[in-house]
Amino acid sequence: MTDTFRQLGSVLQGQPTSDGAGVKLKRIVSPQQKQAFDPFILLDEFASEHAGDYIAGFPEHPHRGFETVTYMLAGAMLHRDHLGNEGHLRPGGVQWMTAGRGIIHSEMPEQENGLLRGFQLWINLPAREKMTQPRYQEFSAEQIPAFELADGGTLKVIAGDFELNGQHLAGAVKGISTAPLYLDIALAKAQTLVIPVPPQHTVLVYVYDGTLAVDTGRQPLNAGQLGHMLKGDAIRLTAQDQPARCLLIAAAPLHEPVVQSGPFVMNTHEEIEQAYRDYRDGVLAQ
Ligand code: FE
Repeated sequence: MTDTFRQLGSVLQGQPTSDGAGVKLKRIVSPQQKQAFDPFILLDEFASEHAGDYIAGFPEHPHRGFETVTYMLAGAMLHRDHLGNEGHLRPGGVQWMTAGRGIIHSEMPEQENGLLRGFQLWINLPAREKMTQPRYQEFSAEQIPAFELADGGTLKVIAGDFELNGQHLAGAVKGISTAPLYLDIALAKAQTLVIPVPPQHTVLVYVYDGTLAVDTGRQPLNAGQLGHMLKGDAIRLTAQDQPARCLLIAAAPLHEPVVQSGPFVMNTHEEIEQAYRDYRDGVLAQ
């Protein structure tokens, strides 16, 4: 069987913005594009050595109807939520939070200087799971399976499972209904890696260091660019004249109506109004 390599569709450039209590970040996928990248709603990269860009953090706020995934590259964050979870996120660590019917949490820097760098991804939940019980999962760097590639580079499997050169690789996060694949890939100069992906899944590649070709017929992606991959059953990545790092994110689309407002992602406007009412009345998270 030969692979049908996915070709590159649209290319997005992260846009500077701020969120929370004034954290400067780069918004790569924004909720305004929600239907295009179903089931992904949002992807942010935060990266700064200046405390003033991040120190205000994300004080207490609610979520309902989707999952938030935070992946840290550098620095330290403290998560607290109404369920009593307290998580210390460290470099290489992942926090996977299924907001379900409601969670109220804060995400604050646990450092006063130095580099803070990482990503936050929002993955939608299917209608039947939007009001499920909230769930918090946290994995340290040591708990994320990492594989050394034969000709250099490494592959960290945060979520998903697949075959690579006859070896079955399984990620830390399991049992999510959109069957997400979340990989952090580091390639050596000029190295090529082929990753199989389910043909129907939405596939995004975000390059965050170096330059990476994802389609032989197109210009390579530079750091800070996201590529939306078209249909196919594999993706071929080739680092250029320097090492490159990227996130490869894939999941099954939901094909359901999406209504997003602030920290809520539901199927109808009525459900969004209900979420605001529930939060105001103190019954969103109980
Ligand atoms: Fe949050």
